[in-house]
Amino acid sequence: MNLSGNESMDHWIPLTPIETMSQTEYDVLIVGSGAGGGAALWRLCQKWKNSGRRIGLIESGPLLLPTHGRNMATMNEERFVKYFENPLHTEYIGKFWPEYPGARMIRALGGRTLQWYQVSPRLNPDDFHSWPITYDELIPYYLTAEQIMNVTSKYAAGSSIQEILLERLRSNGFPGATDTPLAADLEATRYGQIHSNVFFSSIIFLAHALNTRPFDLAVRSQAVRVLIDKGKTAGVEVMTPDLKTYPIRAKTVILSCGTWETPRLLLHSGIPGRAIGHYLTNHMKVFADVKGARSQFGEVAGVASLWIPVPENKWEIVYGFGTDPFHYYWYAYEQKPLLNELKFRFVSAGPVEQRYENRVFLEPGTEDEYGVPRLQVSFSHSNQDRARIPELFRTIRTAVHGMGLDFDKEPWLIAPGEDNHECGTCRMGLDPDTSATNTYGQIHGIPGLFAADSSVVRLTGPANPMLTTVALAIRTADYISRK
Ligand SMILES: Cc1cc2nc3c(=O)[nH]c(=O)nc-3n(C[C@H](O)[C@H](O)[C@H](O)COP(=O)(O)OP(=O)(O)OC[C@H]3O[C@@H](n4cnc5c(N)ncnc54)[C@H](O)[C@@H]3O)c2cc1C
Repeated sequence: MNLSGNESMDHWIPLTPIETMSQTEYDVLIVGSGAGGGAALWRLCQKWKNSGRRIGLIESGPLLLPTHGRNMATMNEERFVKYFENPLHTEYIGKFWPEYPGARMIRALGGRTLQWYQVSPRLNPDDFHSWPITYDELIPYYLTAEQIMNVTSKYAAGSSIQEILLERLRSNGFPGATDTPLAADLEATRYGQIHSNVFFSSIIFLAHALNTRPFDLAVRSQAVRVLIDKGKTAGVEVMTPDLKTYPIRAKTVILSCGTWETPRLLLHSGIPGRAIGHYLTNHMKVFADVKGARSQFGEVAGVASLWIPVPENKWEIVYGFGTDPFHYYWYAYEQKPLLNELKFRFVSAGPVEQRYENRVFLEPGTEDEYGVPRLQVSFSHSNQDRARIPELFRTIRTAVHGMGLDFDKEPWLIAPGEDNHECGTCRMGLDPDTSATNTYGQIHGIPGLFAADSSVVRLTGPANPMLTTVALAIRTADYISRK
């Protein structure tokens, strides 16, 4: 196991060769190191701090970045965007999916949490009406997730631009307008405690786990099949880029490969379940690029990070960022000329209806280098979705005008996938006909096999999904730790 004392540190995180992992039987093996996998790992390490149980984590991607990309001193917004646009770092899977063209994936330790925007709201209590668990049941896990992810509403609080825009929104039809909850560590470094990771990523989960107890981690190790023996989970089959195959034995397997890859693995492994791959959901989003004269905001404008509930309905939210010059965030090292105009990006978002027909499925004849068929997506908007799209446009216009700002260009509806909020392809529920997992994330009928990632989330409201994904993964880990 890692950190036993004699290993050398060849990388910025201790790694275990996959050959060594194949000689161990794990109590829990986690597959995928993004939001769900990182959260499950951290929580299990915390719960089993003083236990000799064996925990392993395998990740198909490499060690891409040791922190969220925005924490790196060499990045500004332009370099950050370019880095992740590079096909070496992002897989543009949507180019093969005519009905879901905007989809993309980051295969790397930390997954998409290396790039996400940190917007971390809870779902509304009302959003749980079709869930198999209540909002109240999730509250302790939301609280734990918010604590470990440093969720705060103070990122922009007090800046002149934030206060002025909030005041205008509140007096122009949006009384609930407030500061966006962001996963950002705003503590200053003091008393020798270093706070160098402002923006949260799953690497923080791994760091907390490492500082709690040992676990094994292998990267560039892709799970290609779940192993089942006599109806029970027995481990996973893993392949490495040199096309070698390793069976990794485990009593419990947690799949945290995300909304695309978790159902792909289950379907390829022949795991039965009518709902596996179905009920794909996401957020319909209208984007608006907006401008406003700098002179209205005082000498030091600062940043805006606005969260704008819509009084007439709860299915929709508007949020946005702005600063001078056009950056979502503020970079300490960068000298920029003072511009006369501030730029903003506003988003109005609401969930698509959850429907069986919206699904992913294996497409025969499209096998990847490991022999696993690629996915295809079937996705469309329902009548209800289509009726709501004009409302997204209407609300964003009302909010922008209410703030006294102007559109830089006309608002536009982004393509499915560009929202990055896909969820639901292994959604949780009570009925195996309409859900893939039970209320703790266990695949119906397969003891020891769990999903803990965005695929289990029912995206029933406008809130961005990651906080809910993490809260549910912590809940799944707690359940497993009690067994
Ligand atoms: C640009 C961008 C901005 C975003 N902003 C926000 C935001 O502000 N708020 C919010 O809530 N959400 C946001 N999101 C979405 C959020 O990042 C995802 O919802 C979240 O990361 C999903 O977590 P996950 O665990 O399901 O998957 P991921 O974080 O994608 O992790 C999946 C991991 O599994 C690995 N993997 C896949 N297949 C295998 C396999 N077969 N074997 C081994 N490993 C495998 C992958 O390499 C990856 O590391 C954003 C996403 C992007 C891209």
